[in-house]
Amino acid sequence: MSLTLTKVSLTYPDGDGRLTALDRVALHVPRGSTTAVIGPSGSGKSSLLAVAATLVAPDAGTVTVDGTPTEGLTRGELTELRRHRIGIVFQQPNLLPALTAAEQLQVMTAKPGKARHKALELLDAVGLADQAGRRPHQLSGGQRQRVNVVRALMNDPAVLLVDEPTSALDHERGAAIIDLITTLTRARKTATVLVTHDRSHLAEADAVVTIHDGQLQSG
Ligand code: ADP
Ligand code: MG
Repeated sequence: MSLTLTKVSLTYPDGDGRLTALDRVALHVPRGSTTAVIGPSGSGKSSLLAVAATLVAPDAGTVTVDGTPTEGLTRGELTELRRHRIGIVFQQPNLLPALTAAEQLQVMTAKPGKARHKALELLDAVGLADQAGRRPHQLSGGQRQRVNVVRALMNDPAVLLVDEPTSALDHERGAAIIDLITTLTRARKTATVLVTHDRSHLAEADAVVTIHDGQLQSG
């Protein structure tokens, strides 16, 4: 279980030309480890996650998820790959207002029979066992973000992709979420990419890369 990007380039249409969002990016994230990606706004962080998540096909290069090269897979095959092997934590929690915390997790699963048990186990693992029956408006910002994170783990993904999970939280709660992500990564053996703009969170990561104008550098 790992994530590997090789010479990945991505451009977007930009007026008469193309804007280079990712420029020959190479990245290898082993299972059970967290690689933090840091870079200024507009440097390509979310584009990197979108390509790693197979939501956007790169112009060039390859993305290998859990040993499976994704190039040439059909849309249906990519959907299956994402459902079973990739957990995505978007920047905005996007919790459904009408659902309880447990139900937010249950709707993610491909195996409805065990969903409730699994949801309660994950909520318990992040200290939310007592909040399982609460709806988003009854949870604090930090609690909502914890639900957002464990929701991505419902199908035991090999790869976990997290986009700026602390942007809506104060420093202390942000640090707790980062701690949670690195702890879950080790416990559940995911290959995790954690995008953040806050350098104070990097001590927890196993590796740190910086991105500038779509170019990745280690350290
Ligand atoms: P970050 O997440 O680091 O802020 P992004 O990956 O969102 O950076 O964006 C990288 C660059 O690509 C920026 O210049 C941004 O304006 C541009 N960009 C991002 N998404 C699109 C899109 N869908 N169409 C055109 N340009 C985009
Ligand atoms: Mg972004």
